[in-house]
Amino acid sequence: MLIGELISRVETQQRKEWVTNMKNMTIEAMATFCRQYGYIYQGSEIYGGLANTWDYGPLGARLKSNFKDAWRKRFIQERPNSFEIDASILMHPRVWEASGHVSSFHDPKIDCKHCKTRFRADNFISEATDGKVSAEGMSYKEMQDFIRDNHIKCPVCGKTDFTDVRQFSQMFETYRGTLNDNKSVIYLRPENAQGEYVNYLNVLRSTRAKLPFSIGQVGKAFRNEITPGNFTFRTIEFEQMEFQTFCKPGTDLQWYEYFKKYAKKFYMDIGLPKEKLRFHDHEKLVFYAKAACDVEYEFPFGFGELNGTHDRTDYDLLKHQEYSGQKMEYIDPVTNERFVPYIVESTVGVDRGVLALLFEAYHKEELPDSTTREVMKFHPFIAPYKVTVLPLIKKRHSVKATEIYQKLATAFMVDYDESGSIGKRYRRSDIKGTPFAITVDDETICNGTVTIRDRDSMEQITLKVEEVTEYISQRIKF
Ligand code: ATP
Repeated sequence: MLIGELISRVETQQRKEWVTNMKNMTIEAMATFCRQYGYIYQGSEIYGGLANTWDYGPLGARLKSNFKDAWRKRFIQERPNSFEIDASILMHPRVWEASGHVSSFHDPKIDCKHCKTRFRADNFISEATDGKVSAEGMSYKEMQDFIRDNHIKCPVCGKTDFTDVRQFSQMFETYRGTLNDNKSVIYLRPENAQGEYVNYLNVLRSTRAKLPFSIGQVGKAFRNEITPGNFTFRTIEFEQMEFQTFCKPGTDLQWYEYFKKYAKKFYMDIGLPKEKLRFHDHEKLVFYAKAACDVEYEFPFGFGELNGTHDRTDYDLLKHQEYSGQKMEYIDPVTNERFVPYIVESTVGVDRGVLALLFEAYHKEELPDSTTREVMKFHPFIAPYKVTVLPLIKKRHSVKATEIYQKLATAFMVDYDESGSIGKRYRRSDIKGTPFAITVDDETICNGTVTIRDRDSMEQITLKVEEVTEYISQRIKF
């Protein structure tokens, strides 16, 4: 059979498996699973942990990095006029005054007077009503009245004695300067977008881009969230992949519709099923925005936002024009018209995306021999390792297997395992989500062939050693 035919047969089978064999897992069980196998650990664990910080282990770091590469491919590489930048986390404090974060990046907080637990009032209402009531659009006073009138109890101590709903700044402050008396406050960025807005003129000049063009970046953001939680879903330090499209006013709604769908398709392409994704159009928009919509995924704790698409009009550039004194105008090269571009933003959260991919990948399967296996069915492009090399008998086959490992490692992340029975080694490879396992045996030494086992179907095929790189390259494409 030709490699092409083989690939198409195995891929069809694999997609069917993804849909039919899914098993749910709780968020707590997922955190335990991730810790056990090296996907994600508690931050500063040996010191008792720092709440809501997480460290990505050997498998998690690769998974995250591959997810970012998938985004880069779809959003930067495959889109014309798209440029990636890497702006500083620390920015001039005036940036955050211009953006409105210093004056209004607040969450509504409410404290239980009895046990002193602090809650984010809007989430508190939604959780207390099992998602039936949304506080989106409610004023602080309305949230406060709702909680009192409905006698909502503190989930920690059961009392109904709360403070008023008040503002809580989400900005992390830090200081620059070497002497105590000349320190000035600067902020850890709460979003990446401002890095793209303040570099709009630089990118325009240095690339000679014409509208519409986009600036994207991948980077950390920090928010002093009142109630972080649900593992890596809401944390105080997280990564975003932001993508701002600068366009001519009047074309913005078209781009907004386009990116809403583009983001959802991106998640589907990388392995999240359509049935577990939905759009959530915002009911209440910030005063400058024309439209806003989230892509949500159905986590075990309910639907949660993965991505946001916003039509931000010319608000951000006008604000930076006002605060920096720099003209943000674009001159149309054909008509000579001058205007400040509109911005359509599409932001993908890295950590929430990875969490959704972990849930979706996890399967517990009963095998025909009545044993069970746990397997992570990642899209091959994002799988931490692409292939595991397994010498059938260590003493006899490990020299050849090492040679094959070294050759393949020049092209992909390759794993190598020579301890224990072949069955146990397959199980370990499955848990890591490695899509292919190569067994090196006497046939390899005598005839130059290896067997390749497919993670999902567990079928094996035989290939010549020199065909393996091409076969795997084809199968891991995104
Ligand atoms: P939420 O309503 O859940 O607080 P948001 O609307 O404030 O999120 P955005 O400001 O639109 O989020 O940020 C874009 C993306 O960044 C979100 O879709 C999400 O994936 C991610 N994100 C935002 N806040 C956090 C957080 N605290 N922890 C992890 N990821 C986050």
